[in-house]
Amino acid sequence: QHPLAHASCDTVAAAVAHGDTTHALTGYIDYDSYRAAGGYGLARECHDGRRDAEALIATMETSSLRGLGGAGFPTGRKWRIVRAEAGPRLMAINIDEGEPGTFKDRYYLERDPHRFLEGALVAAWVAGVDTIYIYLRDEYHGCRAMLETELARLRADPPFQSMPTFILRRGAGAYICGEESAMIESIEGKRGMPRLRPPYVAQVGLFGLPTLQHNFETLHWVRAIVEQGADWFSGQGRHGRKGLRSFSVSGRVREPGVKLAPAGITVQELIDEYCGGMVPGHQFYAYLPGGASGGILPATLNAIPLDFDTLQPYGCFIGSAAVVVLSDQDSAVAAARNTLRFFKDESCGQCTPCRVGTAKALALIEQPQWDTPLLAELSQVMRDASICGLGQAAPNPFDCVVKYFSHELVKP
Ligand code: SF4
Repeated sequence: QHPLAHASCDTVAAAVAHGDTTHALTGYIDYDSYRAAGGYGLARECHDGRRDAEALIATMETSSLRGLGGAGFPTGRKWRIVRAEAGPRLMAINIDEGEPGTFKDRYYLERDPHRFLEGALVAAWVAGVDTIYIYLRDEYHGCRAMLETELARLRADPPFQSMPTFILRRGAGAYICGEESAMIESIEGKRGMPRLRPPYVAQVGLFGLPTLQHNFETLHWVRAIVEQGADWFSGQGRHGRKGLRSFSVSGRVREPGVKLAPAGITVQELIDEYCGGMVPGHQFYAYLPGGASGGILPATLNAIPLDFDTLQPYGCFIGSAAVVVLSDQDSAVAAARNTLRFFKDESCGQCTPCRVGTAKALALIEQPQWDTPLLAELSQVMRDASICGLGQAAPNPFDCVVKYFSHELVKP
């Protein structure tokens, strides 16, 4: 539990809805406190030429920091790619955080907002960016008010002259706008629909310019990695993995919440060591390792290291590290129906395999008896032919049910 007192965004949202503005976020590290504790010193060192861009890229590469929004692209490599593109370049920070079960970005944002802003300034300096767009989830009302206040303080007293411009943009509640190219469309004022790639956003991104796109949490770690060293971060993994991961743990555990744990920790270790075990009276039955889209695994597979690349052999992925724990009082079939309803609602409708596929698959799995051969065909088409990750990952939950939870299905 973070020592700082704070009001959650939900509390603030409720207060705003009732015209009560007294429940603003409090207790976070504000601009003055952050500066007083040495904050923005690193960004100033960059700007003053006391840091070397290549050395910072090498630090990120050695640290093994990867994109923590879900894609896991190596941060240092991304900086190198965008830096090599012809200017002008832009930057876009994704705080849409729409994956069900994920709340780690909000957790850090509510407590230490200047840390990611400094990470953004460092990344912008390395990549040669002078305008930074922040795309914030519409539902995070309290965070928005706080960020507007803190950005105003930063602009009024910049740590160095000619600081890049920060532009704060609100999302409008669409899950698909967490996908990087849909987010860029949304920032441009268009309907949020993923683009076909290539070209990648690093080459042709926001307003047609090379764009450095980062998840909030990735930037949150930049200052600590530079100051404490790449080895400090990379040395913290477990079971052969490297780094730290912020798991958003929810479900039937005694102490849900954001758990900063070694990359590669298993779900059983996460439950036992970080969550105080299961809720009394509940037996561990299953888990969703990566929110709604990362699939569902049985408790018997409780020893898989949780990290990028480790779950693919099981038909799953970690994504943004939202771990949802189910007990013997839950059902994987119900979880699969729930997630597919979500994907059907959130499909942007641009491509047929996803738009029609999610609706068709939902109709099939809402039947008492599943037509598993037809579902397998549908799953393959959605995976092969959908434009973006939503349609490609939407079959994960029901494919996992067929693979691991067939005992829940009504036999023909
Ligand atoms: Fe839109 Fe789904 Fe196609 Fe992605 S896969 S572009 S969400 S219709």
